[in-house]
Amino acid sequence: MNWLTNFVRPKIQRLVAPKEVPDNLWHKCPSCGHMIFHRDLEKALNVCQHCGHHMRLTVKKRLGMLFDDGQYQRIELAKFADDPLKFKDQKRYSDRLKDTRTKTGEHDAIVVAHGRMGGMNVVMACFNFDFQGGSMGIAVGEGIVAAAELAVLQDAPLIVVPASGGARMQEGILSLMQMARTTVAVDKVKEKRLPYIVLLTDPTTGGVSASFAMLGDIAIAEPGAVIGFAGARVIESTIREKLPEGFQKAEYLLEHGMIDMVVPRRDLRATMVKILSLLRNRAPSGELVSLPIDAPDPVDMD
Ligand SMILES: [Zn+2]
Repeated sequence: MNWLTNFVRPKIQRLVAPKEVPDNLWHKCPSCGHMIFHRDLEKALNVCQHCGHHMRLTVKKRLGMLFDDGQYQRIELAKFADDPLKFKDQKRYSDRLKDTRTKTGEHDAIVVAHGRMGGMNVVMACFNFDFQGGSMGIAVGEGIVAAAELAVLQDAPLIVVPASGGARMQEGILSLMQMARTTVAVDKVKEKRLPYIVLLTDPTTGGVSASFAMLGDIAIAEPGAVIGFAGARVIESTIREKLPEGFQKAEYLLEHGMIDMVVPRRDLRATMVKILSLLRNRAPSGELVSLPIDAPDPVDMD
């Protein structure tokens, strides 16, 4: 009987069992709870079609969405010695890095690329939230510096897209130093009178919001993005007061003059191209058109 229970029965069960539906075909909107088919979600650029909630985008999709025809070139970034402090909590930081690199296929939490937007040369530095919460360590700081230098070299605008929980605590003081480094780097872009635009995405917090992310000539944010320094819960328990509704959300920051505009994802590219062309093309772009002007009636000189 053994072969019947051990061999035949599982085979039959496998034949009659309902086929498993891969659970990544449907996504649940974290805001309204609706189930959305993955293809619909992809078509809508990860925005819920029921409530308009903007879910996070991968770096690849973000870059593909913003550059002309989704075409861009990535910049190879300098590599540094990992784990300068030999940091260890429950796990060694060097092991954590190794795991995240295998999982994401990226070296660190930033991608620098150049390409065109509306036909204009643009350099973009985009955070990868999937890589240790987009935290800023030496490598990320280096990415911002490299992007700024490339923008100056190419005489091109710099666009930075943060999505970060802040400084990378495993790199201690070295991570905090990146705040000063990145600030100096974007200042160099400004000195050359090149546009520096920041697209704040969910979340932009901690040391990132306290440095280059809030220094854009124009600060654009995605709807509902959390933007702030310390988390709302930390502030609430420190000041022992209830925080206002929508605190640290993009719309709240717009109302209070911290950012310039909140733009839905589907309009982002067009809006950014318009801003860039307004800032870059100072000569009138219109062709000369001969207008049929009604000739004024000849004045009777008599
Ligand atoms: Zn929704």
